[in-house]
Amino acid sequence: MIRFKNYVKASSLEEAYTLNQKKSSVIGGGMMWLKMQNRVKVTLIDLSGLGLDTIEETEEEFRIGAMCTLRELETHKGLNTYFQGVMKECTRFIVGTQFRNGATVGGSVFGRFGFSDITTCLLPLDSYVELYQGGIVPLKDFCTMKFDRDILVRIIIKKDGRKVSYASQRMAKTDFPQIACCISEKDGNIAVSVGARPNLAEVVYLEKAGKSAEELAAEAADSFRYGSNMRGSAEYRNHLAKVYIRRMLEQFEMEGK
Ligand SMILES: Cc1cc2nc3c(=O)[nH]c(=O)nc-3n(C[C@H](O)[C@H](O)[C@H](O)COP(=O)(O)OP(=O)(O)OC[C@H]3O[C@@H](n4cnc5c(N)ncnc54)[C@H](O)[C@@H]3O)c2cc1C
Repeated sequence: MIRFKNYVKASSLEEAYTLNQKKSSVIGGGMMWLKMQNRVKVTLIDLSGLGLDTIEETEEEFRIGAMCTLRELETHKGLNTYFQGVMKECTRFIVGTQFRNGATVGGSVFGRFGFSDITTCLLPLDSYVELYQGGIVPLKDFCTMKFDRDILVRIIIKKDGRKVSYASQRMAKTDFPQIACCISEKDGNIAVSVGARPNLAEVVYLEKAGKSAEELAAEAADSFRYGSNMRGSAEYRNHLAKVYIRRMLEQFEMEGK
């Protein structure tokens, strides 16, 4: 069990950031991951009083506060209509409804978990993280940044009209994914992310250029490195990625006809 000596409900991001500069402090999102740990920290910093629990939609973008829950992502009408249901698809197998009512978007993205359905889903979109000190950084770059003591304020997703699709496979419904794939397409430009390989999702960009769905899927899937663990071998994961990417590309083709 994780334990703390002090609890501070931050009254500003500045206060939260300043407190978080000490190694003995930790930011609490939904605490779903943190509570599994066994350590003692001096200060728990709670961001729940900072109004970061809203999803705003403007003409150009969606702005998702770090303290929004995965359940809000799953059920938000505007997000799911605009992005063709992928927010629901990438969240609905994560443990259970009660869990998703607690786990936050900020904790999920800042944690850079190898199994993350959320990061896999966001990468092929035109997505950014807003950091308190670091400013607005493309999600793709954030994923390769070293862990620091900054605060993730919100996720920004541009509304640029791309088609998007998400698929994952699990050995049992609420388990961690064996593989997670997401693709987007706009004007013949395709972005493919594959996560739970079992490493953190990465994204590759391809041009359609007359290639078949099978050729594109093989090209995309083979550009990632895969590993083996108790949920599957590297070879199996590569195979799954090819199959899911091909199916999603074929679905786009069918919808385009
Ligand atoms: C049993 C279990 C099964 C899971 N299965 C899946 C799954 O199948 N797919 C999936 O995608 N995810 C899965 N997850 C991960 C889960 O969905 C959340 O991503 C995870 O719990 C972190 O979210 P949280 O809000 O609980 O963050 P917390 O546990 O509160 O924090 C996680 C980390 O992020 C830091 N942090 C939190 N918020 C911020 C912020 N705003 N700025 C800076 N740092 C911050 C914390 O200090 C901590 O280091 C699982 C988790 C558990 C415990």
